[in-house]
Formats: sequence, C-alpha cells, structure tokens
Amino acid sequence: MKLEAYAWTDPGPVRDNNEDAFHLDEDAGLFIVADGMGGHAAGEVASRLAVETLREMLSGDELDPDETRLDRQVGDPGDLLRERLRYAMNQASARIRREAVANPSWSGMGTTAAVLLVEGGQAHVAHVGDSRVYLLRDGRLSRLTRDHTVVQQEIDAGRLTPEMARRVTHRNYLTQSVGYHGPVEPDTTTRNLEVGDIYILCSDGVTDPLDDPRIAELGNEADAPDLAERLVRDAIAAGGEDNITAVVVRVVDDK
Ligand code: CA
Repeated sequence: MKLEAYAWTDPGPVRDNNEDAFHLDEDAGLFIVADGMGGHAAGEVASRLAVETLREMLSGDELDPDETRLDRQVGDPGDLLRERLRYAMNQASARIRREAVANPSWSGMGTTAAVLLVEGGQAHVAHVGDSRVYLLRDGRLSRLTRDHTVVQQEIDAGRLTPEMARRVTHRNYLTQSVGYHGPVEPDTTTRNLEVGDIYILCSDGVTDPLDDPRIAELGNEADAPDLAERLVRDAIAAGGEDNITAVVVRVVDDK
C-alpha cells in the first residue's frame, strides 16, 4: 500500500497564534488534525497534546500480544482498530485534563481530533468535535464525520436546515471535545481503500467559509499535492478568519 500526504496550515488573517495542530505519517498510515481551544495559549497546548498522545498510541508497528489475542477472538481486525482509536482518544482526553489541573492557566482547554488510520487495505476514521474527514472518490465528495456540535444536533432533530445552520452565530459550540469534556465517545467508520481515493482532514477554518460543494469543486480542480494549500487559500479568500488546516491523503496503491 502506498499513500501520499500533504498538509497546509495558516493562522488566518486575524489571529496571531495557530491553535490547530496536525500530523502526517505515510509509513504508519496515520493522519491527524486537531483544533484546540482555551485562553492563554491553552488551545495550542491542547491540540499539541492530543496529536502527541494519538501519535504515540497509534503509530506502533504492531498490536501488542494482548491485542493480537483479542484480535483472533473478535475475528474482525476492524473492530479492534476502532477500539484502539476510541481508547487512544480517551487517553488523550485524560492527559489534557491532567495538564489542565496541574496548570490552572490552562483550565478549560480542549481540542477536536480527527484521525485517519490506514491499515490492512482499509481506512479507519475516528473523530471528536467539528474537525472533519471527507472522502473524494471518483469525483464525488462524501463527509465521513458528523460534527459534534449543538447545531448538528438541531439539524438532526429537523429544527435547522444545513443552510440555516451556516448562518447561526454560535455554530461551533461543541457537544464533545478532547480534554474539556473528559471521557469522549468518538464516532468511528471504516472504508475499503481504492486507488485514487483522496481523504481530506480539516479544521472548521476550512469548512466554515467553504461549503461541501465548493470543497468538492476544489478537490476536482486541484491535484492532490496542491489541494491542501488550495483549500486553505480559498478559505481565506472566502473570508475565513479562524486558524485553517487541511491534510490531504491520496491512495496511490492499495497493495
Ligand atoms: Ca477552529
């Protein structure tokens, strides 16, 4: 299996600091975007701690013996991987909370986390918060994550349309975040890899100013090596003021 990955980040035109963090490792098949929040630069700390913890826990070469045994019992390696993702997210959350308790100026810090873990010909996705993962396959864009926001809950309940939701002031209030909310329940999903697939991980700095049709358009216009930068630049051009981060992963070979 061969993957190519590209990333671009920008603090945006308004903010001095960048509270987004990302990680890409084509060999380990691990890709992460985290969008931190909290005063006194705590957002930067939270997103960095999340990325660090997830990387430590998920880029190990092989499952440890206990997990391998469990794997045989479970029968479906995908279940085990999704379980590892959930466990790693909760470890990250616990670590951020410990740091926040030890450093009161960081109290209340938290972060989103969107993770793509590629293994065994499959792409496993897990997320907490409103950073998103998309799949662009055969020119069609699908969103693989559902935002953990109050606004998304309202959409699900039929009280808001997605169009109305784009104009709500507090559209980024999260129902879950890593760290701040304590134990988390990440959503997970799995796709079989296909050659030519493009996975996009991004912070809301991309998805606030750009709607899905525009992201699909850019995905079809730009080559994968340029796409992350194009998304970030387009988000700024469309009026984005937040920190903006995109990670693009292309499946070159699925063997
Ligand atoms: Ca953000």
